[in-house]
Formats: sequence, structure tokens, C-alpha cells
Amino acid sequence: MLPDSANPLDPFSGGLVGYYADHFVLPLPPGHRFPMGKYRLLRDHLASQPGVQLMEAPAASEGELALAHSPAYIHAVLQGSLPADQQREIGFPWSPAMAERARRSVGATLAAARRALGLHGRAPEGISGNLAGGTHHASADRGGGFCVFNDMAVAARLMQAEFSRAHGMAARLPVAVVDLDVHQGNGTAAIFGGDDSVFTLSMHGERNFPARKVAGDLDIDLPDGCTDGPYLDALDAALHDLDMRFKPGLVLYVAGSDPHEGDRLGRLKISTDGLLARDRRVMDWAWRRRVPLAFGMAGGYGKELATTLAVQVNTWAVALEYRKRWARLAARAATGPVGAAESAA
Ligand SMILES: [Zn+2]
Repeated sequence: MLPDSANPLDPFSGGLVGYYADHFVLPLPPGHRFPMGKYRLLRDHLASQPGVQLMEAPAASEGELALAHSPAYIHAVLQGSLPADQQREIGFPWSPAMAERARRSVGATLAAARRALGLHGRAPEGISGNLAGGTHHASADRGGGFCVFNDMAVAARLMQAEFSRAHGMAARLPVAVVDLDVHQGNGTAAIFGGDDSVFTLSMHGERNFPARKVAGDLDIDLPDGCTDGPYLDALDAALHDLDMRFKPGLVLYVAGSDPHEGDRLGRLKISTDGLLARDRRVMDWAWRRRVPLAFGMAGGYGKELATTLAVQVNTWAVALEYRKRWARLAARAATGPVGAAESAA
């Protein structure tokens, strides 16, 4: 944690800000298969990491949610009036706490994206994250697969709106969603179908949930049992493809830990080191292009919760490295001669 005296908005502090909402407890029946405890474990771990500053997530407003979701769906979630089959599809029983938690989880990604991008007169911090989020199975008018609202979709739309407001209505913010959760980002792909201002990349298990995939801009299907070498090769090719086709002003990274070999649901065989290399590739790709990046944890269902936690902790450690680079870049730009910033690699 940064000392209390450190200004959390000071771009030179070097701190990496993460937003949490796990203390809005979502009550689950005994024996429910979702590993809710992982969020608290991650927060407890990050709280003791120098250079990481944790902040409570704000709640996304209904207006913000409506940038990616239909008003009828938002209303039904908040009031608890979803049809039973739709609630079952989400996978959590409804409660007021479920609705509040879902709003906070979106709010965490909104705050992280805003901080990374540096709108409203703030310098870009370059990178910031959500200790949860990455709820990519939610589409405009329904949830699914433990996802209520699609935080990445709302963040893309809201940052585009705020960017245009800040830089003139003709200014556009292209957003790339890089989704490396083991499950395909079907909700995100559905929301942005036909929208060429948001590029959706999903690399996922071909035979995994959802059974019916929704085509995004770039989908990479991986076979069961895929190991580190082919996985990282596929990622390199995907990032190269993205580079050829799209120039984002913001990257939203869905950093699921469920491709891990110890995951109950993943079906792939990616090691902890392999996923660390994955995170570094994505964050380095964004850094080299000086594109701000916000990230969320998405899925992680380790047979041992500790393996999920280890992968997530690594994601934050890599993010902190890049946060420091952004801070050095800002410091050099503020104090050094023109052009000095270019050498801050
Ligand atoms: Zn997943």
C-alpha cells in the first residue's frame, strides 16, 4: 500500500490502483460451485504489496449500464424480476446484494479504465485494474455464466463517450478488448457486432462454454490440452493480427486465469509461468504503443484456490511493472527535454 499521504491521483507516485468490491457479499447457497472466496484472497494479498493501492469500487449508475444493456434488463436485475430461466442462466440466486455487487463490479472497471486513460484533466496512469470483473458472457439483454452485466462493454462505451466530451465530439476512441479468459467472450462479441470502433479479440477453448460462440472480430479456438508453446505462439499471432487491423486508444484486458492446467473448468494445460508470459505479452504490446490498458480478473476455478490466486497475483505484479514505466514516462515528460520521454522503455 502507498502511505496515506500519497496522493492517489499523483501520476508520479508510481502506484498501481486496483478497485475491489468483494466486501459487498453475494450470498450463495451451501455447496455452490462458484469460488467466491477468491476475491477476498486476492485483496488480502494485494493489500500487503508495496506500490499497489486498493480502492473501493464505485457503483455503476443505471445510465452507465444502459450504454451496453437494455433498460428492461437493467431494471429486472436491480428489482429482482428476471424470469427464473434467465436467473438460472446467470448462475447466482438473486438478492439485493447480488444486484449491488454487479453494479460495483462494473464500477470497478469504469474507474480503472478512467484512471488508465487519464480523462478529466488527469494525466494517464497507463494501467489500472479491477480485482474482479471481466464478465464477458453478459450481452445487452441477458446474463449468463456467472456474468450479470458486461463491465468491459460498459467501460468501452463510457470511455468513448467521455473521450469525445473531453476532446471534442469529433474525437473518437477506438477500443480493443483482448479477452484471454478460457471461455469465449460471447456477450462482448454480441454487444459490439457491427461496431467498428470496438475490436473484440477472444482466444479460448474451442470445446469449452459457451457451446454456441458468437463471432467477434478475431476468435482463436484452442484445442483441449493446449500447452504453453502453442498457446503463446497463438497469442503472438493474434496480437500481430490485431496490430495489422486496428489502432486502439484503449485496451481492455480480460485476464482470466482459467486457461491454467490446475483449473476445474479450463480444459487447457497452461502453466503458471505460461500465463505470466501471456500477461507480459499483452501489457507489453499496449506499453510499446503507449496505449492505456485496464484489466479485470474474469474466470478462475482452480482445483486449489491457491493456483488461481498465484496466477492473478502474477497479473498484478506485471501490471505494477508497467505502471512504473508509465510513471517514469510522465516524470521525464514533465522534467526532461522534449523527446526524452521517447527513450523511456
Ligand atoms: Zn472463464
